[in-house]
Amino acid sequence: MKSVLMKPSSGLCNMQCGYCFYCDEMNHREQKTFGYMSLETLQAIMKKTVLNADSPVAIAFQGGEPTLRGLEFYKHAVALEKKYNHKHVQITNAFQTNGILIDEDWCRFFHDNHFLIGLSVDGTQAIHDSLRHMQNGTPSFENVIKASKLMDQYEVDYNILTVVTSSVAENIQDIYHFYKSQGWKYQQYIPCLDSITGEHGGYPWSLTPEMYGHFLIQLFDLWYEDLQKKEQPFIRQFENYIGIALGMQPEACDQRGLCSIQYVAEADGSCYPCDFYMLESMKLGNFNTDSYKAMDSKRDELGFIQRSAKISEQCRSCRYRNLCRGGCQRMRDYQIETDTYLNYYCAAYKLFFEKCRDRIYEIAKNISR
Ligand code: SF4
Ligand code: SF4
Ligand code: SF4
Repeated sequence: MKSVLMKPSSGLCNMQCGYCFYCDEMNHREQKTFGYMSLETLQAIMKKTVLNADSPVAIAFQGGEPTLRGLEFYKHAVALEKKYNHKHVQITNAFQTNGILIDEDWCRFFHDNHFLIGLSVDGTQAIHDSLRHMQNGTPSFENVIKASKLMDQYEVDYNILTVVTSSVAENIQDIYHFYKSQGWKYQQYIPCLDSITGEHGGYPWSLTPEMYGHFLIQLFDLWYEDLQKKEQPFIRQFENYIGIALGMQPEACDQRGLCSIQYVAEADGSCYPCDFYMLESMKLGNFNTDSYKAMDSKRDELGFIQRSAKISEQCRSCRYRNLCRGGCQRMRDYQIETDTYLNYYCAAYKLFFEKCRDRIYEIAKNISR
């Protein structure tokens, strides 16, 4: 499967969340934003990706806030997918949004074109509004709830994406019950990223390994209790752990042990190996001028995937290695003595697996029966 993520509005956004990892990346590169993607660049990406595809293609749109580019752009994107799909491969579209601009027209479009939406919500109203606000500082929670209700009404498929900050971690019980009351069955929890400079903590929302470990255990306990009643939500990380216990390859790249091959396109067509590394030093090429082959060679030259294989001695001899696999490369710290990397959240994973590993294998065993 070829997986392309595009940023049609670069890092432009109508919100200003304190912890925004993309704002941090933009602040650490020479050119902060690349404006809006032109239709010519969109066409170059689609043509290169779809025309010669022999296997399924996964397209994702993200930001910044991708709705800022306007609905017509995405209608054009779908038209191009159809135009170039001569071999009739499966094409899936995903779209991550803060929900502010979502209205009936967007919902109709998402529904009719089978888009899978990721809607960003950070817990209950008070927590969400303390972290996720508009450029002018006004709260955003009510707009997000309105977007979710509209998507329900138009039968749009969506997941809830929650950034795990200190306040989310400390209030996961309330958040879990709130999500349940909203009928949000598909959930993904993403640990709040520290700065790309590699420094940890320092902000009120920063997540420590201990907090993250306790968060994972509490969330798992709540989920496991619901699993016994067969009314558990789909929580991506847990589903992947169970998949691993069943001998399957996890679909989440941060649970594979090795970074996956991805192409992330900025608005000017420049391409990077991952959303978490959109820096000049990591540029693979540009969709407007370079072939996939050239961009793949550049990824090799940069050693991006190879670096994710350099896991620490602790990981190699760890009793949880099969399930854990060392986590996301972006969350690993360099260990100069051994030229390897260890995840900042290692202590969190150890706490979690110590309490929950047996239940993960028990669930897998029940499934395989
Ligand atoms: S909505 Fe997303 S892109 Fe916009 S500021 Fe918040 S985290 Fe960043
Ligand atoms: S750095 Fe993390 S998110 Fe990026 S490809 Fe690697 S595992 Fe995936
Ligand atoms: S728990 Fe820690 S040592 Fe074990 S595999 Fe995970 S990151 Fe490595």
